[in-house]
Formats: sequence, C-alpha cells, structure tokens
Amino acid sequence: MSASDSDSPAPPCLPFDPFTYTRRRSTRVVIQGLEGQPLHVGGDEIIKVAIRPTSLQQIVHKIDRLGDFRPDFVVNDTSLIELDPRLPLPTSRPADAMVTVRNGLDLPVITAFRLLAARLAESQWPAPILLKDSLHPATPGTEVPAPAPFVRTLLTSSTALGSLLCDGIGDAILVQAEEAPGQALRLSFNILQAAGSRIFKTDYVACPSCGRTLFNLQETTARIKAATAHLKGVKIAIMGCIVNGPGEMADADFGYVGGAPGKINLYIGKEAVKFNIPEAEAVSRLVDLIKDHGRWFEPPTPTAAPALAG
Ligand code: SF4
Repeated sequence: MSASDSDSPAPPCLPFDPFTYTRRRSTRVVIQGLEGQPLHVGGDEIIKVAIRPTSLQQIVHKIDRLGDFRPDFVVNDTSLIELDPRLPLPTSRPADAMVTVRNGLDLPVITAFRLLAARLAESQWPAPILLKDSLHPATPGTEVPAPAPFVRTLLTSSTALGSLLCDGIGDAILVQAEEAPGQALRLSFNILQAAGSRIFKTDYVACPSCGRTLFNLQETTARIKAATAHLKGVKIAIMGCIVNGPGEMADADFGYVGGAPGKINLYIGKEAVKFNIPEAEAVSRLVDLIKDHGRWFEPPTPTAAPALAG
C-alpha cells in the first residue's frame, strides 16, 4: 500500500522534547530471546540488540564466542508489527507486540521513526519500538545492489540510530545496512555505548587537547586504556587541564586531569580528591582510586579473540 496526500493523516507534533533527554515511555513486553528464553523489551529495560534470521544463520556456529557482541533476539514476524507511519495505525494492537517501520519505504529513516513515535503517542499506543539503521537491508537480492563501504555504513547507521536514541526513541535496535553479521553486531553495541544507552565496555571521555594541555594526551590515554579497558560500565575522563577539563567531564565516574606541568589531579565525579600527583605514578594512583571505590575487578585471563569477521 502506498501513501498519498489524501489518505495521510496530518503530521503529529514532535513526540519528544528536543532540548531535554527523556526516554519515550513504552510498555514492557515479553518476547522470545535468542535461545527461546523469555526476554523483556521496552519500559525501563536496557535497549536490546536484534539480528535477522538470515544473519544469525551465518554466525550460528560461533555464537558462543561472540562474548559482549551476542545479540539479544532474532527478529521474527510473530513479535513485530511493521508499519508505514504515514498511514493511520491499525486498530488491531496486540499488547505484547513491538512495532517498527516497514522496510522499503521511500522515507529518510530518522523522519520515519520520529513520525512513527508521534503516531503512537497520538494514538496512546505505547508499544516498544524496534529501530532500524536503514529501511533498505544490505542483503543480496534486495534494494541495495552492492555492499556499501563499511565506513559509509558506520557513519549513516550511527547518525540514524544515534539521533533517534538521543531523541529518547527506541527499545531495541537492528543494524541491517551492514551485510557482515559480526560487523553489524559490533556496530550495534558501539552505537548504544556511544549514545550512552547501553554500556558494555569501559567508557572514555577525552578532551581534544589544545595549547593548555599539560601532558601527552594520546600517550596517557593509551596507558589508561591499557590499565582499565576491562572495567565494563566505568566511565573515565582524561582532561588536559583544570581550566576547562572538570567542566567537560560530563558524567564520568573518575577523572584524570592535568593540574600543573608534570602533575595530575584525580577526580571522583566532579570532585577533585587527589592533587599534584607526579605524572609517572598517576595512572597507578587512578587504578588505586577505582579500587578504593569498589569499581575494580581483575582482568579476565587472556583467551583467543572471538572470530567476528564476516
Ligand atoms: S580541557 Fe583544557 S587542555 Fe583540554 S581542550 Fe579544554 S582547555 Fe584544552
């Protein structure tokens, strides 16, 4: 069915406040998880990562080695209602369904999902929404004739999903513009991390550096990452100076900030707690601070990296 001016209802108002982050309110529903177990989606649940059945088939042999990049559920027709948001919503509204925008529509993806959220709000139907990065899946035989270069997919998928997540829209995401399933899953989780929607690894905030920077930002960041990269969920800010650094640390849990030439101040949140630590010992003192505040755990024993290419 195609939409025309005559059968399209008037566009509703923005379903979100563009100046303040508030997650769209949705119903918590139970769907089938990756291994058939009950999985909650929507409400206050963390945002889930979906995979298409065809993509799952390609990586099912290494599903146990996906680690942090394991998808939460497989998209299937029974738990998902696909809509054209330009048209009136259906009157049949199963209480346990998720909704999404139908593939193949000639709409920009951000516009399509904002319109869908607005339609649902207007109709008082708080169904959870499955976001897609594209309405044109990159699989052989569909609308995209050849795979797009990954860097382009990375940018367009991040722009689409990141914008919508920052609008507060979305209870699950599906990256389908990337053909390689492992790459698509990595991209999915990294988009959620960058949007602050689901933290699956250590989060770093670093200033861009400028004439005020009091230490080698790249080298120091690399040393801090080497010591803390296994601390899932911890957010660390690395700022070159105390002039602007503390104000730009956002909601970091710990801060490493240049206090004077060769001297570092350490922060818990926005409060400075250790002053003028010699730079040579500052990374280990940061680790001590993380330990003192109960956020440290030992890194896992190294094992072979999961094969995620493809
Ligand atoms: S935090 Fe300080 S060093 Fe870093 S960019 Fe801002 S002013 Fe420059």
